[in-house]
Amino acid sequence: MKKTNKILAFDIGGTKIASGIVEFSQKGYQIFDYQKVPTPKNKKDLINIIIESALNQKRNGGFKKIKIGIAGQIDSKNGIIMHSPNINGIDSMNLKSIIKEKIGETVEIENDVKCFALAENVFGRVKNFQNIVYLAIGTGIGGAIEIDNKLYCGENNIAGEFGHMSIEYDGRKCACGNRGCWEKYVSGKAIEKLYFDLYAEKKKAKEIAIDSARGIRKDKRVIKEASKFLAMGLVNIINTINPEVILIGGSVSRQDEILKLAKEEALKKVLIPGRKTKILQSRLGNEATLIGAALL
Ligand SMILES: [Zn+2]
Repeated sequence: MKKTNKILAFDIGGTKIASGIVEFSQKGYQIFDYQKVPTPKNKKDLINIIIESALNQKRNGGFKKIKIGIAGQIDSKNGIIMHSPNINGIDSMNLKSIIKEKIGETVEIENDVKCFALAENVFGRVKNFQNIVYLAIGTGIGGAIEIDNKLYCGENNIAGEFGHMSIEYDGRKCACGNRGCWEKYVSGKAIEKLYFDLYAEKKKAKEIAIDSARGIRKDKRVIKEASKFLAMGLVNIINTINPEVILIGGSVSRQDEILKLAKEEALKKVLIPGRKTKILQSRLGNEATLIGAALL
């Protein structure tokens, strides 16, 4: 593990940007100055958030390096965001050179789920597994595949983009350009849409989960429905990748009921040997991606 060195880390997702100073020690990690702001709708504001935060930290004692986990397909070698369907206006942006030019700092960037995978590997529940599928279910669904302890990225760096598995022909339109992608049926927003379609009322995914757990019938119906879609994708993953374990993080994973229902349903439907697959909930919580980014 790295020595005690302060890293300014960012977790940039489709809904929020989290940042903090991460410090590693023999005992593990500590996060200072944890902050969360909504993801802006344009590139300029997004860059400003990073720069403001860096300048602020420089005034308050500094840091060794900036490291960023970001949703989308990333060319980490060159620091370029190739494509990010859930964040507006940042496709093809060379974040590394922009930050270097503006404040003279070098940054490392990587896909957010790969960061999450790294943190889970070092501090989380999958230390002793070799064949792992990681899923982060939040605004969309990100994924990563680890085979024999090595991340498998694919020929063009899109391996593990399970959120864009097509599960319905001519289904809901996705930001990636296709229709019927898995993430359009399982993410927080998808749960809210399910609720709205059934009852013509707006309700937050988190509240739906809470009310469902309290036994409210309307909410239970939505969670049950969403869990079927979640199960559908899990079956596809198990039957094609056959991992030892699927580790699920992100805001939707913290809704115990949906995860439990989906797990039961999926393990009933997979090819029989696939029933041995473990489906685990991440315990690192909201900070997993931030910690993983700092570990880069
Ligand atoms: Zn898609």
